Formats: sequence, structure tokens, C-alpha cells
Amino acid sequence: MRKITILGSTGSIGTQTLDVVRENKDITVVGISAGKNIRLLEQQIREFSPRLAVVWDEEDARALQETVRDLSVKVAWGMEGLLELASMEEADLMVTAIVGMIGLRPTIAAIQAGKDIALANKETLVTAGHLIMPLAREKGVSILPVDSEHSAIFQALHGEKKAQVRKLLITASGGPFRGRSKKELEQVTPADALKHPNWDMGQKITIDSATLVNKGLEVMEARWLFDVDLDQIQVVVQPQSVIHSMVEFCDGAVMAQLGTPDMRLPIQYALYYPDRRPLPGDRLDFWKMHELTFERPDTDTFRGLLLAMEAARAGGTMATVFNAANERAVAKFLKEEIRFLDIYEIIGETMARHRICPNPGLDEILETEQMTYEWIEGRW
Ligand code: NDP
Repeated sequence: MRKITILGSTGSIGTQTLDVVRENKDITVVGISAGKNIRLLEQQIREFSPRLAVVWDEEDARALQETVRDLSVKVAWGMEGLLELASMEEADLMVTAIVGMIGLRPTIAAIQAGKDIALANKETLVTAGHLIMPLAREKGVSILPVDSEHSAIFQALHGEKKAQVRKLLITASGGPFRGRSKKELEQVTPADALKHPNWDMGQKITIDSATLVNKGLEVMEARWLFDVDLDQIQVVVQPQSVIHSMVEFCDGAVMAQLGTPDMRLPIQYALYYPDRRPLPGDRLDFWKMHELTFERPDTDTFRGLLLAMEAARAGGTMATVFNAANERAVAKFLKEEIRFLDIYEIIGETMARHRICPNPGLDEILETEQMTYEWIEGRW
């Protein structure tokens, strides 16, 4: 019986992880956590009987404690609670389904406690890949990608020699605004940006898909996860989202993983790696697939990918600045305080004024995040 904890069990990845658990019956969920959705967390506690449940605010924790007092679950809160969840003695693996840099410290704590990581939280490797990957190697911990693109690459690399990899080809849908001009993007609303053509995801990542920032974050993540140079990563727009990503090898062979857009597949693959399990749901029907097309990303209009590459090349704390500036800009866009194209302005201007710390430790990364937030609050 595999024992897991889920950081962010109430979100898009978290609930789909629980779908996989529900379907398979041989995984026990020993700890879960949520931000604000206490009602769903309570239902999850009743269904999965974890030993520990964590919420962010103390007040929410007290309210939850009251509603589940008929159960033996312990309720904790805040970062301390998340760190307790991350290092639970009985857990084998933690799913990082939380959004934002808040996932950083618990992920490090879980690796230090020897837990394998099913990694959805992009911010972890984007901002601290240089700390996380060596730590995982030192502790003998596996970092198993959940993101569909990274899972596709991980699957294509299975049984292959790293030295024979020439290129990673990360596919992108192009998001809801693919093909539009800058002029056409001036007035788009959060509701427009939240209509992803193929995937049903959390709000923040859906906006990141529309700006191509998400693809940039994925490139930054892939670099650490697969230990390749940035120049070995190429982004290819594949609007039907059928090819989830590919690897080109030294002999010219290209291995791709294809499938319907269903996050339960990469989640389940990470939970049972290297096994495959049956998964109910739609299958690719090649007779119904009319076309499979490819395009270059329009990085002139959707500057998110270029800004990400700039941050990745600059290195050190610049990746954190890119990520934190984007986080704040997306939050402001969702509240309709800024316009869509302002997201790029905020990221670009914040990066331009940053003095890089070349090899930051965890404290410097978290300080940079805070300083970035403060600067943005004062400026916009
Ligand atoms: P969601 O917004 O749907 O869910 C985020 C989860 O984090 C929720 O459980 C939320 O709790 C929790 N959370 C948010 N803030 C806090 C906080 N302060 N304290 C504790 N918990 C908190 O996000 P997604 O599931 O879409 O994404 C999660 C991560 O996975 C992101 O890093 C994303 O980039 C990545 N990812 C997502 C994919 C997808 O298909 N959704 C695909 C690939 C990667 P609550 O809802 O209770 O407030």
C-alpha cells in the first residue's frame, strides 16, 4: 500500500489526484492540505480519512476542527502545518499540487525527510531547481513530473541514455488567444483569458497559458528536471494538444507521448512509476482526428516565453523575480486592476531593475520573492 500526502488537495491537480486514488484503491492518503476551500477539505477528510489536514489560516483551522470533531484527524495550519505534512513519518510520496512559491519550503522538507515527490508545483524548480535537484540526488529521492509536458518527456526518456538526447520539444497549445495581434489583446478580459481551448486547469495556470508565461515556466522547469542546457529545449505550438511533448535523440529519432488532455494520466504515471495502470476515460480516436498541426510560438505578441528565457539565462534570483512578478501581475489582472498586456510590462520592468544574486540559498530566494511583491505593490 502506497502512502501519500497532497499539498493542495482542493485544487485542480489535487482533486484529480484524489480521483486517481479513488479509482485504484491501493493508495492511502495520510495527509492533505488546502488554502481556503474548507468545505471541500472536510468532504475529502470524510472520504479519505487522512491522519493530518492542514489549512492556511488559524481561524479556518479552528472552524474545521469543530466540524470534524467526530473524526480522529489532526488539524494544523500555516507553514508549520505544511512542514509537518511534508515530513509525515508514514508517507512515501508527496504530491505538490499547491500553487505558488509557498510550495518551496514544504517540498524541501519532504525531500529532506526522504519522500519521493510527484511534482506539479512549477514554482519549485523554476525558482530553486539548483537547490532541489542536488538535494533530491543526495537523499535518493525521485522527482516525478506531473505536468503533462514533463511527464511526456519523462515517458519518452524511459530506458534511454541521457547522453543520446539532442533536444526536448515542449509542445504548447498556444492558449485561447493564439493568432491574435497585440492590438486585439488590448481589451481582453479575465473571462476571455480563462477560456482555455483544451485543458481545464486552475485560474493562475490558465492565465499563464494565455500569456505563454506557462511555457516559459515549463522550459525553466525542464532544464532542471532533465539536466539539459536551455539551448536544447525548443517550444513547438501544437494547437490540438494531442502531442504532450517529444524528445529528439542523436540519431534523429523523435519519441512523442500522445493522448487526450487528461491530467489524471500524468498524475497516475507519477504515482505508480514505472508501472502503468488502466485509466478509464476518453481514448485518442485517430479516425476522428482531422489534423495534427505545428507552429512557431509568436513570441513577439506573447512575450512571456521570451521573458522567461531571459530570466533563465540571467540565472540566480532572476528566475524568482520573473515568477513572483508574474504571480502578482496575474492576480492583478484577475481582479481587473491591470490589462492583459500589462502583465508583460510588470514582469519586464521588475526584471530590469533587479540586481541578481548568482547562487541564492532558500532564504535569499524567499527574500527576493517578498521584495518583488513589495516593489510591485508600490509601483502598480
Ligand atoms: P489550483 O488553483 O486549482 O489549486 C491550488 C491548490 O493550492 C488548492 O488546493 C489551494 O487551496 C491551494 N493553496 C493555494 N494557496 C494556498 C495557501 N496559501 N496555503 C495552502 N494551500 C494553498 O491550482 P492547480 O491545481 O491548477 O495548480 C497547482 C500547481 O500545479 C501549480 O503550480 C500549477 O502551475 C501546476 N500545474 C497545474 C496543472 C493543471 O492542469 N491544473 C498542470 C500542470 C502543472 P484552496 O483551493 O483551498 O484555496
